[in-house]
This record gives sequence, structure tokens and C-alpha cells, in this order.
Amino acid sequence: MNDIKQSDKLRHVCYEIRGPVANEAKRLEEEGYKILKLNIGNPAPFGFDAPDDILKDVIRNLPQSQGYCDSKGIYSARVAVMQYYQQKGIRNIDIENIYIGNGVSELIVMAMQALLNANDEVLIPAPDYPLWTAAVALSGGKPVHYMCDEYADWYPDIEDIKSRITDKTKALVLINPNNPTGAVYDKAIVKELLEVARQHNLIVFSDEIYDKVLYGDIQHHPTASLADDLFLVTFGGLSKNYRIAGFRAGWMMLSGATHKAKDYIEGLNMLASMRLCANVPCQHAIQTALGGYQSINELIVPGGRLYEQSLYAWERVNQIEGLSCVKPKGAMYIFPKLDQKKFNIKDDQKMIIDFLRQEKILMVHGTGFNWPSPDHFRLVTLPHVEVLEEAFNKLERFLHSYSQ
Ligand code: PLP
Repeated sequence: MNDIKQSDKLRHVCYEIRGPVANEAKRLEEEGYKILKLNIGNPAPFGFDAPDDILKDVIRNLPQSQGYCDSKGIYSARVAVMQYYQQKGIRNIDIENIYIGNGVSELIVMAMQALLNANDEVLIPAPDYPLWTAAVALSGGKPVHYMCDEYADWYPDIEDIKSRITDKTKALVLINPNNPTGAVYDKAIVKELLEVARQHNLIVFSDEIYDKVLYGDIQHHPTASLADDLFLVTFGGLSKNYRIAGFRAGWMMLSGATHKAKDYIEGLNMLASMRLCANVPCQHAIQTALGGYQSINELIVPGGRLYEQSLYAWERVNQIEGLSCVKPKGAMYIFPKLDQKKFNIKDDQKMIIDFLRQEKILMVHGTGFNWPSPDHFRLVTLPHVEVLEEAFNKLERFLHSYSQ
């Protein structure tokens, strides 16, 4: 028998957050080392417990969750998502246009699989959350990265977007609040992005999974609340806002010009039904999570854990010689820039592996987020300040003598 090979369609797919660097961490763990994992936005291992009400509701509903449900999800969860977005100013939402998935991840892949033909182009931010690029590539499409500008609060560069549009461009992806940069877009930039989509007849995919992780008095403007003449798809979920990433509960909502997307919607419905339905017990968490008391609000104000940790990380990064960083306004990451005059990094993945081997701390290299130059990296700001302090002390020590 010949060697069994992966399919050709995977040749251009990559997802480095759990890739070679994480594999090296695993190898070190197997050798007995303890690794501080700052590579994944997974709040629970850092002591962020799910709100009690959510756990109770899932447990209470377990006996009724034994069968498959509607492919789009249980009714109460979809109503809750609908009401959530109605309150955020999105109009004309139809419950039939809400799909519950095993996390946003599943739905991103589904949305791209249903849409793309060979070489159809999708505009994706650089840096991005790399699942977007991977999902477009897996679906046979061509990811086309547009630049976000570090010197303009990591906002998308509108002229760069325009310059990359061709007759093959089908869609524009926004990630707001942004992973990995922590940017949160103001109304004006969202409107500018929408105007580009309007002029070029693009579908807008808006990944808003961090829409409640906003520091201080930063406001989030849902993309779909600012346009209903375009066809828009909004993604959200419980992994980050409610710190229950392991529940795999997310959703996708179609809004705006849905009448123009009847055939696409049929495709989505078919893909949703092919995977039967999302995990049923955890769908019961959605209504409880979205209604009532929002425990996240305690974490994102001065004195709250997420706020203080993000602020600490940003301050520390800017104190380390050769590093600089834009202050995150939301999400749970920091994306520092390396001064290339000092470090001359040619291979940022190698730098991350060198740091991992020396200090037993796992981060992710910037090119893993489709950033074009090897001069950034990302870490999560989820650990307690004392743990971050030690991690930054080690990073400072490592960088002091590091160059390539
Ligand atoms: N979108 C963004 C921007 C993310 O950062 C993540 C996870 O880190 C996801 C989507 C996937 O989330 P989920 O846990 O709902 O699959």
C-alpha cells in the first residue's frame, strides 16, 4: 500500500495556533517540563469559571437534551440570539436566519464552504484570526489579506482594501473586537468598510465573538446595526464573553438583504442539516447567558481581572527594550512589535520556539496570524498579574541577548 496522503485541498490550509510550536510544547511536557501556555484564548484554565446560572441551566436541561434538535438549533437559544441583536439595534431579524453551531469555528467553515467556488476571493484582515484564512483555503477560495495599520490603532486600511478588490472578490471579513490586535472599531470605520462592501457588492462577514470584552468605556458597534441594504453575516458565541469555550456554543445570524441570498441560504441549510445539529445540552446555556445579569461587566472595568491584566501586559511590553505595543481596547490578547534593528528576526516561529525551549512559555509568532513580516508575536492576557509579571521578566531576559 502506498503512503496515505492528506487531500490536496489541505495543502494550502494552515492553523498555527495549535501547530508546530504547540507540538514542541507538547513534546517538552512529555519530557516532564511544565509549560505556561499563553497561546490560546481559553479563559477557563486561568481560573475564569463559568457563571453558576449557566452551569445550573445546562445540568437541569440534560435529561431533555438526549435527542438531536432542529439543525439550526433549539428554539429558545435562537430567540435569545434574536433578541440580543434586536437590542443592539439590528433590524428585521428572522429567527430562521439564526444558526447555532459547535462554536463559531464550525460556522465559519460552514459559511465559507457554502459560498466559495474555486479561486473566489475573500478579503481578510492581516493580522487575522487564522481560522478565517484556513476556512477560505479549505473551501477552495483564495484568501486575500488587507492590511490593518498599527500606527492607526490597528484599524483596517481602507485604501489597501480597495486596491485588492477584483472581479473575483466575493466577501469582506471584519473581526471586531479584533484578535490578535485588541482593536475595537469606531462607528466611522465600520461605516467606511460597509461603504466599500456596498460599492463592490460584497457580502460582509463580521466576527464579533468578543463583543462584550471591551475595556473601560469602549463601545462596540455591531456591523449589521449600521447597514441593512447589504447581506451581512454576524458571528457570536459563549466562548469568550461567558468564558465557556469548552461548551462549543456559538451562532451565526444572517441579516440585511437576505432576499438576495436565497440560494446561498439553501446551501447553508443543507450543510447545517448534514451535520444534524450542534451539541444540544450546551445550547441551553445560550438563553441564560444572554439574558439578565452579565458577570463579564465586573471583569472589564478598572479593578476587574481582564482589565487589569490587559493594562499590565500593555505597560510591561512597552517597558521592554525593543518591544512596543498598541493598547488593546478589547479581547484578551496583546500583539507586540519587535524592533527589527535590534533583533533582526528572520524567522519568528524559530524565535517563539527558542523562547519556549529556554523559558518554557508558549506564545504564537505573528506570521501565524498571516501578518506579512516576522516582527510580531501574540500572547493571551488571561493569567493573573503575578503570572504575567514572571512571564514578562523571562521574556525580557530572553530578548536581552536575542537576535537572529
Ligand atoms: N473568532 C475569533 C476572532 C476567535 O478569536 C475565536 C477563538 O479564539 C473564534 C472565532 C472561535 O471561537 P469558538 O470557540 O466559538 O469556536
